[in-house]
Amino acid sequence: MQSENPPFAGLLKGPVSRLRRMFASPGPTLVPQGGAVDYWRFGMAFAGCGIKAGDVVMNTLSYHLTPGGFMLDSGLRSLGCVVIPAGTGQTDLQVKVASSLKATGYAGTPSFLRTLLLHALDANVPLHFEVAFATAEMLPESLRAELEGFGIRVLQGYATADLGVLAYECAEKNGMHLQPECIVEILDLETGKPAEPGQPGHVVGTTFDADYPLLRFATGDISALAPSAPCSCGRTAPKLKGLLGRVGDAIKVKGMFVRGSEIEQVMKRFPAVARFQAVVTRAEHQDHLNYVVELQPGASVDTGQLANALRDTVKVRGEVSIGTVAANAPRIDDRRVWK
Ligand SMILES: [Zn+2]
Repeated sequence: MQSENPPFAGLLKGPVSRLRRMFASPGPTLVPQGGAVDYWRFGMAFAGCGIKAGDVVMNTLSYHLTPGGFMLDSGLRSLGCVVIPAGTGQTDLQVKVASSLKATGYAGTPSFLRTLLLHALDANVPLHFEVAFATAEMLPESLRAELEGFGIRVLQGYATADLGVLAYECAEKNGMHLQPECIVEILDLETGKPAEPGQPGHVVGTTFDADYPLLRFATGDISALAPSAPCSCGRTAPKLKGLLGRVGDAIKVKGMFVRGSEIEQVMKRFPAVARFQAVVTRAEHQDHLNYVVELQPGASVDTGQLANALRDTVKVRGEVSIGTVAANAPRIDDRRVWK
């Protein structure tokens, strides 16, 4: 609709002049920023992370075309923090700036925080980070542990370029509390009806923003609501259990959901595997799952052992065969034809 009638398909209420900023992200999608001070509602998420007024916080999400940088910036400013708009890249310079400006807070991807910390260690530059808000990518517990080894408290938030923040961790680090100003629902992947707590489903969000209302906006992410239980932090908002994968990356094989991310988890434990693809076919009304695995030059792997490890995690039996896999091949190739 936007490409036929740019910029906002005639859906913007009132003239463009009422907006504060406009972005092009993700990809060709045009996104307006309305007038509210903390337009994407990040203040609560940062507060949950222990960031407070007067903190000097380095913001390393991009300020260029995408709203990420401004999302974090406006949330931090709403709390009264002093923001260093570092953006992406220039690791060497960022380390020096964070050190001289004595930043105690970090906001951005956990992988870039790791890059900064290791670079500072190498260059023998002292950093003063005490707390980090991780977002925009997965935060594996192994990475969190490594970052916390530097004496930094690391909590994460879940946001999208369209909806802003949807959920954030409290000090319990056990699931993410829903941000109550965005209505988050988890919809069953097959029926589209609200999924029971504990059951995975598609995350959709609703905001009644006057400039950019979104109704059941589909994020493409899969998550599950944690069964309701009081949280020791005192918040009563329900929790998301974390991100479980992407819609489209999860398919049903032999009645079970198979996710590319789960397969990848297992493959990573086998260093001999260079690339892989799970190929799903169907014959005689039976699903068949075959993992095609391309090995590192000169490496070998016990295919039986790999198949067992995959079955333990993926919960569906499949065969492993050695072959070649294209560099950009999707993790799952569903070749089933349904008639
Ligand atoms: Zn809590």
